[in-house]
Amino acid sequence: MNSSTINLALTTDGCGLLTIDLGAIAGNYRRLAAEVRPAAAAAVVKADAYGLGAIPVSQRLYQEGCRSFFVAHFLEAVQLRPSLPQDAAIYVLNGLQPGHEERAAILGIVPLLNSMEQTRAWARTAATHGRRLKAALQVDSGMSRLGLSGEEITGLLAEPALAADIELTLLVSHLACADEPENSANADQLEALREISSRFPGLPISIANSGGMFLGEAFHGSLARPGIALYGGAPHSGGENPMRPVVRLDIPVIQTRTVPAGAQVGYGGALVADRTMRLATLAAGYADGLPRNLGGRGAVYYGGKRLPIAGRVSMDSMTVDISDLPEGTLTLGTPVEVIGDHQTLEMIAEDADTISYEILTRLGRRYQRRYI
Ligand SMILES: *Cc1c(COP(=O)(O)O)cnc(C)c1O
Repeated sequence: MNSSTINLALTTDGCGLLTIDLGAIAGNYRRLAAEVRPAAAAAVVKADAYGLGAIPVSQRLYQEGCRSFFVAHFLEAVQLRPSLPQDAAIYVLNGLQPGHEERAAILGIVPLLNSMEQTRAWARTAATHGRRLKAALQVDSGMSRLGLSGEEITGLLAEPALAADIELTLLVSHLACADEPENSANADQLEALREISSRFPGLPISIANSGGMFLGEAFHGSLARPGIALYGGAPHSGGENPMRPVVRLDIPVIQTRTVPAGAQVGYGGALVADRTMRLATLAAGYADGLPRNLGGRGAVYYGGKRLPIAGRVSMDSMTVDISDLPEGTLTLGTPVEVIGDHQTLEMIAEDADTISYEILTRLGRRYQRRYI
């Protein structure tokens, strides 16, 4: 992409240009699939594929050979279902909610069964349809979030009638600390899952998220479930990020000014100029997903130069200190980099005291989106 195309797009559409590199997502998928082979790799496309567009992302990954997709909510599965061929399985991580059974059965959406109650409801639905229905069984191996406990599994196995109506395709569990390779909780959870798995001979297991895929072969199971690493985020906190960047965000300048020492900058006068300062106001703010706590600590980049965010981030704009750039460098419409070659997703997340997941999933809807 050259900068003149960015300029053109920005001057036509205003608030900012979000470039999503589907080729990089595909490359990351191939990298992750190779990491766990001979196990298979799914794609977690919940929250609109972490804000990047569940439909284009899923369709691209289907082309790469991905056949298992995970969303969080039933509605997400309903929206995605028509965009993928029928041999793609769509799993709903949050489980089967009352009232969704019928549509799930008709649309061929595969629920995760997180409780006895959900399992019985799915079995009843199967009985009314006169056929076995597919499901994944989620077990809680130590995160205390979703899934059946070991005790509940015992109860479930005592109701063999359920097995007549439900075809289990996957035993799922989720790691609480996969981003910390040294954390012993990972091995404890794997052990707990294996224990449960021994009671379901031959049932494939799925435990690894992005981080889990890099914890060694023992964690690969039959199907890995990467999310953040597909989208360029680091699978482990700290250290090298082996994934290709996927997102670029450029925001145009909407005004520049020079202020004297003593001038207040932005809401609350949170910054008072201690010298003559040159400032640029940019066309995006916290309503566009740029965290408010970047005020006074985050930065944007232009031509490789760091431009600190001056004062508070507003709803629709923010002001940056451009005193270090030669005068006249930035003019109306000039795009500056918020995420890109100089500022990675991880860097901005760290400045905002959060994680890459939150930055991505909050990216605003007012940006012009460009898929490459
Ligand atoms: C979100 C999620 C994933 C993907 O996690 P990443 O850390 O983004 O790879 C996998 N499994 C479950 C159950 C999840 O909720």
